[in-house]
Amino acid sequence: TTVLGIETSCDETGIGIVRDGELLADVTATSMDEYARYGGIIPEIASRAHLQQMVPTLKAALEKAGVGLGDLDAIAVTAGPGLIGSLTVGVSAAKSLALALGIPLYGVNHIIGHLAVDQLASGPFPESFIGLVVSGGHSSILHVRDIAGDVTELGGTLDDAAGEAFDKVGRLLGLPYPGGPHIDRLSRTGNRDAIRFPRGLEGGKNKARHRYDFSFSGLKTAVARYIEGLEERGEEVNVPDIAAGFTEAITDTLTDKALRACEDKGCDTLVVGGGFSANSRLRELAAQRGAERGINVRIPALRYCTDNGAMIAALGYSVAVSGRAPSALDITVDTNMPLDLVAF
Ligand code: ATP
Ligand code: FE
Ligand code: MG
Repeated sequence: TTVLGIETSCDETGIGIVRDGELLADVTATSMDEYARYGGIIPEIASRAHLQQMVPTLKAALEKAGVGLGDLDAIAVTAGPGLIGSLTVGVSAAKSLALALGIPLYGVNHIIGHLAVDQLASGPFPESFIGLVVSGGHSSILHVRDIAGDVTELGGTLDDAAGEAFDKVGRLLGLPYPGGPHIDRLSRTGNRDAIRFPRGLEGGKNKARHRYDFSFSGLKTAVARYIEGLEERGEEVNVPDIAAGFTEAITDTLTDKALRACEDKGCDTLVVGGGFSANSRLRELAAQRGAERGINVRIPALRYCTDNGAMIAALGYSVAVSGRAPSALDITVDTNMPLDLVAF
């Protein structure tokens, strides 16, 4: 079974091709370079870029895989969540291909794709596992019994996502957009114990209710206050120490709650995915704490953490071989696609 996956939820045009669980090609084009001067993604520019990049990226992926259009058995595409214009370009392309080739279409969930991609390098998932998806728009803990259709959301962020918090603090520290990778780099030269920033929803009266939830906006405010205080007193701002202390607060909470969910649900495996899972301290802390608690921690290689086509081809392949019915050719996109909906 050969599945072509199309990803256009945000600014990356990604095409991946998976055959029998093996990745044959993964090609990505991005319009990110255009956003540094705006300090964020401009949806209209992203949609236009997808239109320009779609066919060239598709051709490059087919060529790389040594596969012709006639060899494809199914088309998978991100149907949500994401930006409406970006999603629409990918879904339109996917429907056209499925119709022209007479093969099934699977409109799948981008966030579940961030976990599904891990199968390509590390093999099949266990019967039941906990997923931690940390990205530009999500920080969610999921209980996955079947990646092709049985996912429960245990908790998520009440305000900012992890990547979003990093990008906002990056702005406070005067770093280019997106701030995430810059804070990661700087934090490695800082002292993570120099400043202790607050952990959100750590205890208090909401402890039980928010067992698997996150809140990072208070932390972001604490960083802003800290910098203001230094400036008022005319003291030097030690950017690496702030980056390291801030990173520690976020990664401490993420790993602690995700591993707690593994213990609560009796799962021996934690799969971490999404753009923020590229963070070096998160990877280190998750591996270390997982080993301490006897939990197997799986995190994709760096290039499969941020958005790509391979993740959608991987999820499409899992859904296709599960025998579940394909999506109708009149599906639309869902900018807020619920996380327990793996495919339309
Ligand atoms: P979603 O998947 O929720 O729809 P998205 O697709 O926009 O959101 P991704 O592309 O998965 O998000 O991830 C992008 C985010 O990852 C950005 O916020 C970026 O700052 C962050 N990021 C990337 N690399 C790192 C890193 N090394 N450390 C911290 N954050 C990082
Ligand atoms: Fe993403
Ligand atoms: Mg992205």
